[in-house]
Amino acid sequence: MQSLKEFYKIGNGPSSSHTMGPKRAVEIFKNKHKDADKFKIILYGSLALTGKGHLTDYIIKQTLEGYETEIEFDTKYKCEVHPNTFDIFALKNNEEIAKWRVYSIGGGTFKVEGKKDVTIPDIYHEESFDEIVKYCEEHEYDLYDYVCNVEEDDITEYLKEIWNSMEKTIEKGLLNKGTIHGKLNLEKRAKELYEAKIENEDESLKQNRLLSAYAYATSEENASGGIIVTAPTCGAAGVLPAVLYYMKNKYNISDEKIVKALAVAGVIGNVVKQNASISGAECGCQAEIGTACSMSAGAYTYLLGGDLKKIENSAEIGMEHHLGLTCDPIYGYVQIPCIERNAIAAMRAVEASNLAMLLKNDRKISFDLVVDTMYETGKDLQSHYRETSEGGLAKKYCRNKFYNKEMQE
Ligand code: SF4
Repeated sequence: MQSLKEFYKIGNGPSSSHTMGPKRAVEIFKNKHKDADKFKIILYGSLALTGKGHLTDYIIKQTLEGYETEIEFDTKYKCEVHPNTFDIFALKNNEEIAKWRVYSIGGGTFKVEGKKDVTIPDIYHEESFDEIVKYCEEHEYDLYDYVCNVEEDDITEYLKEIWNSMEKTIEKGLLNKGTIHGKLNLEKRAKELYEAKIENEDESLKQNRLLSAYAYATSEENASGGIIVTAPTCGAAGVLPAVLYYMKNKYNISDEKIVKALAVAGVIGNVVKQNASISGAECGCQAEIGTACSMSAGAYTYLLGGDLKKIENSAEIGMEHHLGLTCDPIYGYVQIPCIERNAIAAMRAVEASNLAMLLKNDRKISFDLVVDTMYETGKDLQSHYRETSEGGLAKKYCRNKFYNKEMQE
């Protein structure tokens, strides 16, 4: 597994695999070939099908500003290695001088075919959650100690920066009004949820309202191209910050403790990234929102004082009940179902944690098993349920006048 610095990244939404990953890869390629006078990019698979809605072409053009740039959307070719694939060519006097095939594997991370030197190395030697738990028990570590033991000395500082950024995004998102860019004309709802005055509002409704408002705040910022943290991706970036912000404010928890919970959540997400996938294009929304829910449930349990077993049980419950969740964003925008889904997953994470704290530690399903199941389920999902906007809500809404408000107008 790679460093948590590679896992949590601060950047612009709306999509880690469609904007952050391509931007990083294109930037490095450009700097290696400064003598080129033109760059050509061919997007395949999900990048070709939802690249416009996810702003892939926009971010590539912005990264290559000053150069002649040609972008092609090839929706026919299906790459067997990864659905988020693109080729980038550097040209000089119309002659090809270099080419990379890039796989944008989720969370802003990318791999280049045949180029190990541009791939971030693994620093964690344990290969499953079970191995991590055994290692921690042997050394009497909790998951935060484990992270500090493996990572460079500045990891806590790095996580502080991440938490700072998450908080800022929520606080900005809670002030926003108006609609989100795109033809859905979707109203921003975070502020409304946050400020709602509900007669006789009971405590549990109030807590769910606040938790949802925090998740909406980040997700709406993401959909608007604002600054967010991949957790594990941009599309699912609203869940973990919402749960941590909610905990901090409800129980007056210190930032130091929240930063430790971020490390716990990072270990959980990193296991999924290593052994399965955090990419909606590869395994559907279960890989993004399911992982975000697991991470958040584990972090919540850590903050409640749960031990390693309870943390694992919470993460497992968080993932298990998202199995099979499809990715079908309408018009390819990270808006519907994504924004609301972040709020639902934040509430589910709290419930998963509460349930794990109540149940005995005799669960039959381990976190590693549910991660493996999620991966296999994702591979079995038909491609139109994996970030292509060709199935599910995207298909029904876009092709049926009865459901589609834009077509009725
Ligand atoms: S449906 Fe889920 S996986 Fe797909 S873009 Fe939205 S948040 Fe990401």
